[in-house]
Amino acid sequence: MSKWNVMANKVLAKESLTPGEALSILMSPDEELLDVIAAAYRIRYRYFQRYVRLQYLMNAKSGLCPEDCQYCSQSRVATADIPKYPHKTSGEILEGAHRAHALGATTYCIVASGRGPTDREVDNLVDTIGQVKNQYNMRICACLGLLKPDQAQKLKEAGVERYNHNVNSSEDFMPHFVTTHGYTDRVKTINLVKATGLSPCSGVIFGMGETLKDRIDAAFALKELDVDSIPVNFLVPIKGTPLEHTDLMSPQDCLRALAMMRLVNPSKEIRIAGGREVQLRSLQPLGLYVANSIFIADYLTTPGQSPDADHAMIQDMGFEIEPIGLRPEDLACDASSRDD
Ligand code: SF4
Repeated sequence: MSKWNVMANKVLAKESLTPGEALSILMSPDEELLDVIAAAYRIRYRYFQRYVRLQYLMNAKSGLCPEDCQYCSQSRVATADIPKYPHKTSGEILEGAHRAHALGATTYCIVASGRGPTDREVDNLVDTIGQVKNQYNMRICACLGLLKPDQAQKLKEAGVERYNHNVNSSEDFMPHFVTTHGYTDRVKTINLVKATGLSPCSGVIFGMGETLKDRIDAAFALKELDVDSIPVNFLVPIKGTPLEHTDLMSPQDCLRALAMMRLVNPSKEIRIAGGREVQLRSLQPLGLYVANSIFIADYLTTPGQSPDADHAMIQDMGFEIEPIGLRPEDLACDASSRDD
């Protein structure tokens, strides 16, 4: 039995990986990559079978952000050529919901640039969310920045199920790519989201120049925060951002990073998020053996591959789009035939 299968057995027996084991995944040789993926797949299959969850992003407010996140085309330090607009209208957000639903997305992610929303922005969104919930059977995830307790409560009462706020990287690495807010600000919002009864979603951006230890620290921090959903972004070095000249990771390293995230956070929804097409390139389909979720269509300010290509990839790999409403107990699988 390969050491990767031994590691998978340990995780399936509900034992935690050690940071040293996580590092060994990130440092595994290319000739063992398929064994690493196969080990991660056993865990993915146990918790999510062969379902792929589709999420659709709506950039409800673009650009004009006073924060200085170096990776972001919407920050005040970016000169990227992107659309800039204040909040989209209710009608536009409803149109986005219609498209999301038509593409098979079960989660509609409403994202707004900025440090955090104003009370007025939250109130306007609350009305729109009610209309989306009335018309479409989709989960709503909001991503509006740092939140205040009453804002979180209003979003929950409006029908928002999930709130995204990424840790992005390790606490140590964070000052290297943002100075206008800190790691503890972000963790505070994630804890507020949990305390309000919203499902917490928080993830990372890999490929910003962080060390392997930073990647591991971020994965264990998300385990500690016990978030439900983990988007794993890979940096898109957008022209006009301070990170525009950053080298791409190798597609193999992207797969190792996804596998490490799966083994550290076995039962969590893991999404291949922004940068999927740019960084995984022709190895994208292998990512589905590890992650159980992707964004369909475009990202916030960068294009994704066509939704037809995503649907074809899922079908060609023999996976299936997850319908809405499956419960963890519907998805959990004894999978003893897959366990060595
Ligand atoms: S990531 Fe968010 S907070 Fe940071 S610059 Fe971009 S929009 Fe602003």
